[in-house]
Amino acid sequence: MARSLRFLARQNINVLRGCGAKLEARLAEMDLRTVLDLLEHYPRRYVDRRKRAAITELTVGEEATVIAEVKSVSARRTRNRRALVEVTVFDGTSYLKVTFFNQAWRERQLPPGTEAAFFGKLDMYKGRPQMTNPAVDVFGPVSELGALGGDARTGAKTGVIVPIYPQSGKAQVDTWQIQRLVAEALERAGEFSDPVPEVLLDRHDLVDRTAAYRGIHAPESDDEWRAATRRLVFDEFLRMQLGLVARKRALERDSLGIQHVVDGSLVSAFHAALPFDLTGAQRSALDEILRDMAAPAPTHRLLQGDVGSGKTVVAVTALLVGVQGGHQGALMAPTAVLAEQHHLTISRMLDGLVVPSDGTLMGDRPVRVELLTNRTTAAHRRQLEADLAAGLVDILIGTHALLYGELKFASRGVVVIDEQHRFGVEQRALLRGRGDEPDVLVMTATPIPRTAAMLVYGDLDKSELREMPPGRIPIRTELLVGEAGRSLAYDRLREQVAAEHQGYVVCPLVEGSDKLEAKAATEEFERLSRVELTGLRVGLLHGQMAARDKEAIMNDFRAGGVDVLVATTVIEVGVDVPNATVMVIEDADRFGLAQLHQLRGRVGRGGGDAWCFLVANPVTPDAEARMQAMVESTDGFLLAERDLEIRGAGEVFGDRQSGFSDLKLGRLPRDEAVVVETRDAAAHILDEDPDLSGRRELAEEVEDLLGDAVEFLFKS
Ligand code: ADP
Ligand code: MG
Repeated sequence: MARSLRFLARQNINVLRGCGAKLEARLAEMDLRTVLDLLEHYPRRYVDRRKRAAITELTVGEEATVIAEVKSVSARRTRNRRALVEVTVFDGTSYLKVTFFNQAWRERQLPPGTEAAFFGKLDMYKGRPQMTNPAVDVFGPVSELGALGGDARTGAKTGVIVPIYPQSGKAQVDTWQIQRLVAEALERAGEFSDPVPEVLLDRHDLVDRTAAYRGIHAPESDDEWRAATRRLVFDEFLRMQLGLVARKRALERDSLGIQHVVDGSLVSAFHAALPFDLTGAQRSALDEILRDMAAPAPTHRLLQGDVGSGKTVVAVTALLVGVQGGHQGALMAPTAVLAEQHHLTISRMLDGLVVPSDGTLMGDRPVRVELLTNRTTAAHRRQLEADLAAGLVDILIGTHALLYGELKFASRGVVVIDEQHRFGVEQRALLRGRGDEPDVLVMTATPIPRTAAMLVYGDLDKSELREMPPGRIPIRTELLVGEAGRSLAYDRLREQVAAEHQGYVVCPLVEGSDKLEAKAATEEFERLSRVELTGLRVGLLHGQMAARDKEAIMNDFRAGGVDVLVATTVIEVGVDVPNATVMVIEDADRFGLAQLHQLRGRVGRGGGDAWCFLVANPVTPDAEARMQAMVESTDGFLLAERDLEIRGAGEVFGDRQSGFSDLKLGRLPRDEAVVVETRDAAAHILDEDPDLSGRRELAEEVEDLLGDAVEFLFKS
């Protein structure tokens, strides 16, 4: 009988003969508990034995892979107390000395009789060739390899291509032990059932599952493991997309939204009153959003646009579409500071606009915009709640905490969520199923590469603002190294302050706690006030300050009473002071790329020259790459792609943004094309079988991956 993955997931790993209690415990430490866990513990790379170099043919100064047996090993300390392990290996042609410094554990790893691949450069020491600190992949004891060879199942000469498994030094399970267990598991599993329709396998030129699991663990050629990898990556993304597409369809089917009237007078009055014309990008984003809003299904759309691209006007338009139809709008921001700022900007934008009202002489009243945060007094809050329930408040702006409150709207028509990257998918789900189904627009200033967005926000449609409003002068970004570099930055800062501009100094990130960071920021503030910024009016802003103090310093800075704001990353989000023209980021190499880009977006908002100085000493290649990317580009979309390349998706979005942690083989942006393919494939499968009732195995796989969240989607 062909085996399903769920079946294999229910077989304890100790059913394998090679797995005794001791090994079982060690495997458990590596989170390998079932036969499926083991089969999905994929090799991290392969060593092709045919590409080995004979020791006799090595050239000094060149890199090579030597596959050889350990003949002797010894450990001692050098005169300056460094651990020194010396290994002699033999490959049938000759002996070679391999030396390890500061890796005392190599003595345990490489007992005589071990076969391993050594990758490194040949050098000369005291007139004799040797390899120093090579990379090592242990194949296993030579005798064990004998057992592995001559695989009856495939008739293959196993071991031409040797899979190397992720090592776990702590759990002390060797790659060859995994190899042996996997071989047994594959043999006993026999045929894998394959729930993916053949027509899709053909269309995407994919091997079947049996070939995939064999090919990735026991390939006979490079082509085999490549084809196997392609298939398994496809399966990973297909499961996610099935969950996402099914959820999106269920929402569209089950929920009734408001069919907004999109061409009313309030919106046209708003646009007519703007001191500028909408950009083409803003107009087409609005076309898309308004089309959604006019339709019966609730809108769930992501609005992506770099810092300064003009998302606010688009969002306010959407809110007003609701208001002109007699509904209310809510705008949620991640922080109170940002909510206050939105409240300020939006109130100003809507100044002079009116909505119909029976209660007044003129038959209308001003559009009412209110602010609700954790700083709102209890009495004021009660009043707001009453007015909200009575439909007297048109637009409510507040922090995300608004979501959880017991707020009653007379008719909540539109919800805008700002800065989605700080916001969990789970919270977004909370907006649904509370009786009323508002249209939801999610704005993000951290542009998310297309494919990643598909995964994180797979159920959201998307509009992008890729064009900046006219008149922007790109911020000049420079990487400055060392003290001389630093002083250049502060010279420019002082020069700009002399020209009546303002600036920011961003303090180094301090890991550990907000408290430690606040302490460090305070010290930095005091030092800068004494040295680099002496004589200037300097303010401090950090996350541990009382809300009232934060507000006071921000107001002071906005009003021009402070020349330089020394701050932690609390200024990252949304602070908008057009007169600020210089930003100095201390220890910039410790920040992530997305964060740096957000920080930089705080300057250059006034339309004149602006500078961002990265004071850094990048030592790792990643840090170097981040600094380089910042210097080369101010395009948030491009930087987001680079960030994803440098760090990988799991890091970028974190585990909470589920999905990425479940990717074992899939990588973004490398596998962009697969995401697109599997999205189509998922649509195809669900067109034919909307609840997967005829494809139970596939439904099970999606459920096993995504958990309760999707279980209701598929009938069992
Ligand atoms: P975002 O929220 O996307 O970072 P904002 O909505 O705050 O950007 O807009 C940034 C600045 O650009 C604001 O000062 C806004 O008034 C201005 N702006 C927006 N749209 C336009 C436009 N079409 N033409 C000129 N300026 C614009
Ligand atoms: Mg904004």
